[in-house]
Amino acid sequence: MSSQQLIERINEAEAKAVAAFKSAATAEQLEAARIEYLGTKGLFTDLMKALGSLPKDERPQAGGAANKARQSATEAHQAAKEALESASSRDSFLDITLPGRRKPAGHCHVISRTAAEICEIFAKLGFSIAEGPEVETDYYNFEALNFPHDHPARDMQDTLFVSQELLLRTHTSPCQVRTMEKSQPPVWVVVPGKTYRRDSDISHSPMFHQVEGLAVDKGITFADLKGVLTAFATAMFSPDTKIRLRPSFFPFTEPSAEVDIACVLCHGQGCRLCKGTGWLEILGSGMVDPAVYGFVDYDPEKFSGFAFGMGIERVAMLKYGLDDIRMFYESDLRFLKQF
Ligand SMILES: [Zn+2]
Repeated sequence: MSSQQLIERINEAEAKAVAAFKSAATAEQLEAARIEYLGTKGLFTDLMKALGSLPKDERPQAGGAANKARQSATEAHQAAKEALESASSRDSFLDITLPGRRKPAGHCHVISRTAAEICEIFAKLGFSIAEGPEVETDYYNFEALNFPHDHPARDMQDTLFVSQELLLRTHTSPCQVRTMEKSQPPVWVVVPGKTYRRDSDISHSPMFHQVEGLAVDKGITFADLKGVLTAFATAMFSPDTKIRLRPSFFPFTEPSAEVDIACVLCHGQGCRLCKGTGWLEILGSGMVDPAVYGFVDYDPEKFSGFAFGMGIERVAMLKYGLDDIRMFYESDLRFLKQF
């Protein structure tokens, strides 16, 4: 055999050995391949022996090729061995009885939760829940609620207009009118939802949430309003929460009252939160102005009622002692996870 033929056989043996190691699927197959090519009676040993029959001056070249080929076959064997070992150690370390990794579960946003809590309290008092559109007409948002045409609330400063006639509702009160249009008294509803105003600072957000309440029935008086709101405040905050009513003005109620609760921090003693007054403003309310009944064909001689509206963010801030409304919308998980 010439040295050229021997080198060809060496290269052929290297290619076959590498392929056999790579394709070995088990440790047994790999060992069989090792014996066939790299074993003491293997192919490479035979080829090394054949070197001896070459003329002396041709031996170094063929010998170099043989060493290189055996080296690369040995490396391929080692790599295949490690790959099989690491695969088998993965299998033996897989304990299928271990509990799975839990996916982090989300939960209700504090605003949704507060809204649900408010609605639940009023549901227990006999109110049902109604909803209305967020894009409203000027008629429902202002006119039918007795807002005069020159009322400052209609100003571009406060209201986000979509067009001449359409706007983003500035309060949930339009739903009072929509509810009364659909049914005759008795009407007992609360309306939770988003509202919009051009306002943004530490205590105002351009989008915020309100719950509106409306009760119209025979013989409803201001005492019913105060009773319902007291029941709400004690259920929402604490059983000894006191409320007070201050005269106020809203176009769609007459008489109207701002409602305060005793400060949740100092319980009326006066502190930084209540600015020393002992009271915190929580909502606006009043007896439905008879002028509103004119828009929905209710007989003001037969029926009377009250309405109130509160900011859900405001209630949540008082309940949880927060001082910046913007935190509700920043989606900071460290903040949200507290609730
Ligand atoms: Zn206080």
